[in-house]
Amino acid sequence: MPPEMIPIDGEEKKRVCYFFDSDVSGFHYGPGHPMKPTRIRMCHSLVMNYGLYKRMEIFRAKPATKREMTQFHSDEYVEFLSRITPVNMNSFVKEQHKYNVGDDCPVFDGLFDYCAISAGGSMEGAARLSRDKCDIAVNWAGGLHHAKKSEASGFCYVNGMYIVLGILELLRYHQRVLYIDVDVHHGDGVEEAFYTTDRVMTVSFHKYGEFFPGTGELRDVGIGKGKYYALNFPLRDGITNENYKSVFEPVIRQVMESYDPGAVVLQCGTDSLSGDKLGCFNLSMRGHANCVKFVKSFNKPLLLVGGGGYTMRNVSRCWAYETGLAAGVELGKEIPMNEYYEYFGPDYELDVKSSNMDDMNSPEYLDRVKNIVLEHLRHVGGPPSVQMTDVPRMPVDEMVEDDPDEDMDDPNNRRPQRLLDSRRQADGELSDSDDEGEGGRRNQASHKGAGSPTSGRRFGAPVGIMSTGTTHGVGPSGAPPVAGAASAPAGGQTSAPEQTAMDIDDGSLLSQATKNTATPPASTNGTASAPLPKADGERPKHLGGLV
Ligand SMILES: [Zn+2]
Repeated sequence: MPPEMIPIDGEEKKRVCYFFDSDVSGFHYGPGHPMKPTRIRMCHSLVMNYGLYKRMEIFRAKPATKREMTQFHSDEYVEFLSRITPVNMNSFVKEQHKYNVGDDCPVFDGLFDYCAISAGGSMEGAARLSRDKCDIAVNWAGGLHHAKKSEASGFCYVNGMYIVLGILELLRYHQRVLYIDVDVHHGDGVEEAFYTTDRVMTVSFHKYGEFFPGTGELRDVGIGKGKYYALNFPLRDGITNENYKSVFEPVIRQVMESYDPGAVVLQCGTDSLSGDKLGCFNLSMRGHANCVKFVKSFNKPLLLVGGGGYTMRNVSRCWAYETGLAAGVELGKEIPMNEYYEYFGPDYELDVKSSNMDDMNSPEYLDRVKNIVLEHLRHVGGPPSVQMTDVPRMPVDEMVEDDPDEDMDDPNNRRPQRLLDSRRQADGELSDSDDEGEGGRRNQASHKGAGSPTSGRRFGAPVGIMSTGTTHGVGPSGAPPVAGAASAPAGGQTSAPEQTAMDIDDGSLLSQATKNTATPPASTNGTASAPLPKADGERPKHLGGLV
């Protein structure tokens, strides 16, 4: 019997672009490290074997280049990432310390290629959404939300490429972009990047209190022009589906009404699932997926990205199910035969169930926090209007516009053959299609073979994301990233001009770039100052004429 895909009644059909690069599973953080890139491949295996390729287009994005990465990260940091290997790492001891690479974020073979691959899909997904090539773009390899401008953090090396650059790309076409984060950890990297602008609203639901990264307090709402455009919903251990829904839905409904975003990025970290190795929530797969269902129901251009998730069999189950929801189907509960089938025993069912753990979030607590968050939202008082100027043509435009035949094809006719062919390849790779022209992102395969699955540095003592009580990786709670802050990033900058995500704000913000006028909110957790991104008035290369 073929695996089940049950169309969801009353759903408008969405055009879904799904990004996957099989090379991603060839990388290893090192023995014992909980972050396992193989989870993306496991998810993909479910996606394919359920037959979801019949309902969406599948792409392999071109890996991000060094130049693209430096649109958010410092040149020096990107250069360091591109050069360090397990063999030469001893000559980079000072830099490893400076960039926080080594423990949670170990050096492994192909580190740079891994970053580049994970990043490419989010950028291209955003580009396709912006050009109305699809309604929903999915990149489970993206979504690692902690990395800072010049610092790796919580298993994330180049956040800008995973999410921030995807958002920047959306901002070229949409006045307002909403970022929602349902990872069990606070989405500090993304919040920090857009803390001073009203062009992006960030909303994070996360465990708070004695938990990595130590930021994301209820009081942290953004600063300057961005005040009340960053929302945080701190939660306690053990939250159930019902309780999560009771706060997620009213908050997001009100956000949609007050902010009316042009596009939405949903970070679907699955460490908020019950039984996650590092998480402490009690969501079932269906409880988690309700967030996708609910956000999708607003019919906005939607970029779904991955994030945390450390119990591989559950990560892959949940993201496969959510891919199905994006494509308008419920996947049947029986897991189809696939290359990882034995991981799904003993029941071989798709569902990730909740446990009987206690929910430390009392209805009173949730109600109180919800009311404060809604109160913050009232300050927004309707969507801010933003002057949009002409959008410059960028290389990425050609990447998504160079295949005129694409729109003519019915994906239901074209895709299966294309994918079935590629699935026959010996290495099981989903290769780039042959019909998308030379020079597009999807046709670049120079990174192939870069990441042989060899072990990297041995993973050290649990620190950071894997231990509780740490506050390393300070976000706005510690010190907000004031656009125009006088201090340089901890990474230390070269003379090369540097761009920050805050630069996408309007001209008045840029003109303040040399002033440091905003008042940081009080530090709430006693953490040290975070590196403050420098805004030097240069426009991001990527956004030339936007501001
Ligand atoms: Zn996480």
